[in-house]
Amino acid sequence: MNTYIGVDVGGTQIRVAIFPETGSVPIHQERISTRNTNESELDRLVSLISQLWPTEGKVLAIGVAAPGPLDSKAGVIFSAPNIPAWVDLPLRQVLKDRFCVPVALGNDANLAALGEWKYGAGQGHHNLLYMTISTGIGGGVISDDHLLLGEHGLATELGHVTILPDGPLCSCGQRGHVEAICSGTGIANYVAEEIQKGIPTRLPAKPRPTSKEIAQAARDGDALALAAMDRAAGFLGLALANYLHIFNPSIIILGGGVSRSGDVLFTPMKAAMHKYIIDPAYFKDLTITTAALGDNAGLLGALALAQEIQS
Ligand SMILES: [Zn+2]
Repeated sequence: MNTYIGVDVGGTQIRVAIFPETGSVPIHQERISTRNTNESELDRLVSLISQLWPTEGKVLAIGVAAPGPLDSKAGVIFSAPNIPAWVDLPLRQVLKDRFCVPVALGNDANLAALGEWKYGAGQGHHNLLYMTISTGIGGGVISDDHLLLGEHGLATELGHVTILPDGPLCSCGQRGHVEAICSGTGIANYVAEEIQKGIPTRLPAKPRPTSKEIAQAARDGDALALAAMDRAAGFLGLALANYLHIFNPSIIILGGGVSRSGDVLFTPMKAAMHKYIIDPAYFKDLTITTAALGDNAGLLGALALAQEIQS
């Protein structure tokens, strides 16, 4: 039986799965931690693929989802959060030379979008916008049935768009980005500052409340938690209204921990989208939903990418 190999390189885990030529249920899969003091991350990745390499049939292609920034067209990772050794790493060529099969590389958020489109909540749509909102914010866009990459594969960094000039500091070093305000980190930072100022809340100052705890407190009616969720959701709705104007998707898929906050996020977010939109036509046939693939979105996106270079 011929197979595809999907690889998902995360900051904490490397996952490798062997998929049959048709189908999205892995025949074998394995995960290991990314960091290990004795071996380089690249050696660990190569040896895990070697271990799982099928003994029968042909491997048609390998698809790799990796944290960016990276050039998916050149197959080069510029830098990877949590893997300091990966600077300007030509990962596609390295794997191609080692395994002698076609290899494709993609940004993990882009490939999660591709995974949700092919195998998850976005099936059947032609224009899709995907955003993962957890400690950071990543995004991907399918435009007229194509994953939007841009000249160097750097397009659709939906978290690093300025929505509040001189606003809170973002993980990228700039200020006022969507990620700095609407991510789990952004929400937790805001609440910690408000508690410091003496704003009354049932949330403790220490240990610092997480965005999950803040969302729960908001559902329980805590005024500060509600204000924090309202603020993040309002800015998220503003950002999404901007994205609707640019991409005109028929489905918005939200993934990541913060997307599981429920109505305390979705109700003010949708209100803000309506407030900032220039024409109600953007809402015609628009579905707004949560991601279906969870943890597996990147891996299934890597599979979809491998299938694309083969077809
Ligand atoms: Zn940023």
